Formats: sequence, structure tokens, C-alpha cells
Amino acid sequence: MFGFASALTTLAVASCRVYNDWIAEFCQTDRRRLVGVAALPLQDPRGAAAEAVQAVLQVALPEEGVYALHVNLIRFGRQICLPSEPLCVVCPLNDLCEHFQHGRRRV
Ligand code: SF4
Repeated sequence: MFGFASALTTLAVASCRVYNDWIAEFCQTDRRRLVGVAALPLQDPRGAAAEAVQAVLQVALPEEGVYALHVNLIRFGRQICLPSEPLCVVCPLNDLCEHFQHGRRRV
């Protein structure tokens, strides 16, 4: 039974991704008149959060900024938000970060 539920969650996440890609592209045809509403896989809260970020960035970010964002996110993860010892005190995002705000600060 667990395997079936897991497969349904995976299907929901993938379906939302496909739909959101489609609606974002469709709405590009007339950005003044069409507004897409993203679908989120509520069975998977982490997947839903990731999908929400993806959907917003897909619409808000100019295409020429995608590569720079990709590279800078990798650099941020390698230099500041390190997996074992994040440098939260010097992090430019610490005022937005729940990890930092809830007192799990590291120098
Ligand atoms: S404040 Fe948040 S985003 Fe910044 S380094 Fe720490 S954990 Fe990472």
C-alpha cells in the first residue's frame, strides 16, 4: 500500500510540473490578459514548496537571467550556505531565512 501511495505522490509532483510548464508557456502569449495559476502537489509539502518557487521564477525571471541565477545559487551553496556549517552571520539572506530566524545560527 505504501508503494502505491508513494507512486501517486510522484505522479502528482510530475503532473504539476508538466501542467505548470504548459500554463507558463501558454500565458506568455498575452501577459496582459492571461494569468496562470500554478498547480501544487499537496500530497508532498516539500515538493509543493519547490514547485511554487519554480512556478514563480519561471514567470518572473527574464530568460537571460536563468543561467546567472543557476550559477549563483550553486556558488551560494558552495561558499555560504554550506550543508554542514552554513555561514549564517554573513549570509545576505539571513533576514529572510527561517533557519536563521529560529536561532540555528552559525558563524
Ligand atoms: S542564513 Fe539561511 S540561507 Fe543563509 S547561510 Fe544560513 S541557513 Fe543558509
